[in-house]
Amino acid sequence: MRRVYLDNNATTVLAPEVFAAMQPFWLENYGNASSIHWFGQKAKAAVETAREQVAKLIHARPSEIVFTSGGTEADNASLVGIVEAARGATKHLVTTAIEHHAVLHTAKSIEKNGVTVSFVRAGANGIVDPADIERALRPDTVLISVMHANNELGAIQPLEEIGRLARERDIYFHTDAVQSVGKIPVDVERLGLDLLSLSAHKLHGPKGVGVLYIRKGTILKPLIHGGHDERDRRPGTENVTGIVGLGKAAELAREHMAEDSERMAALRDRLEEGILSKVPLSAVNGDRTQRLPNTANLRFDYIEGEGFVIALDLRGIACSTGAACSSGAVEPSHVLSAIGLRPDQARSSVRFSLSRYTAAEDIDAALEVIPATVERLRAVSPHYKKAAIAS
Ligand code: PLP
Repeated sequence: MRRVYLDNNATTVLAPEVFAAMQPFWLENYGNASSIHWFGQKAKAAVETAREQVAKLIHARPSEIVFTSGGTEADNASLVGIVEAARGATKHLVTTAIEHHAVLHTAKSIEKNGVTVSFVRAGANGIVDPADIERALRPDTVLISVMHANNELGAIQPLEEIGRLARERDIYFHTDAVQSVGKIPVDVERLGLDLLSLSAHKLHGPKGVGVLYIRKGTILKPLIHGGHDERDRRPGTENVTGIVGLGKAAELAREHMAEDSERMAALRDRLEEGILSKVPLSAVNGDRTQRLPNTANLRFDYIEGEGFVIALDLRGIACSTGAACSSGAVEPSHVLSAIGLRPDQARSSVRFSLSRYTAAEDIDAALEVIPATVERLRAVSPHYKKAAIAS
């Protein structure tokens, strides 16, 4: 059985070049980047090269790049750091209802500590209207945090317009760009960003390493306390091997982006069109133009997403639902609910996400398996049978 991996928004395979770049840092160049001897300086030089590689990818200065343990930490550090450093009797944060839990749950935790938070909704297309962000702003707003591309839908948010609003009012602007960096061009200057989170494992780098971009002059409190690593902004001995991998992944992403994105979009569209034409009662969720080139989110009426993902896995196709399994009950995805899908529609939705390494044969295999699996599951669905009898 051919195993087909279509869950690249969850994580990606390490690029072979990244693997090769990381190898010497396990057994040979194992110094601590803060040490002054030869071993330390080798590690430090490699970390600084990676800093330049990442900075170049997002059009930042190397000194504005802070290495973290991943996207989750960078999101937490942004929200908590800005709110804690801000002065004023009251503080207000604006974010959206479609953020990843790394932002959403951090915002909810901040809310419990007395900060007011506005969760702006997205339209049915999965895109937030800048006018809604503007309406949510208050004189005590200290931060706007809007993700760049949504992880479930791939929907790309209008950051440039929101960045302009933030600049005009002197409000800090953060984006969770974990899903967009490496897939589409990201320019912190053009988007008017003060803070940006990214994660290596979404762009063929290693897991457990990411970056918080902090624009020069931004005042935020560090999330954790310790030594003087990362210029006091993120203490802790640097994950040199991981950072080297992230740097290489960033360099590769920059080199391959135009070609990768064209290839992925063509394959993604073939997959989507194939499904829509072969599977009755299927539809695409979210905007089909303003989205990442690698992501397709579809709903299949009368199908239960979790069961569908398991059935596809048994036939070699790996994909995912946006649903989170909490306390035994499958909750519909908060993103799909926020764009107005009914719980049954949200529960019937599945995400397919491609990468640089997805082959045409993978899409062919998926198109063989998906329609037949839907048909088989519907054949045993009492709801489907009832609807078929009624129609
Ligand atoms: N933000 C988004 C949009 C994500 O998709 C993810 C990962 O799924 C994260 C944040 C968390 O990043 P990490 O896995 O590096 O902690």
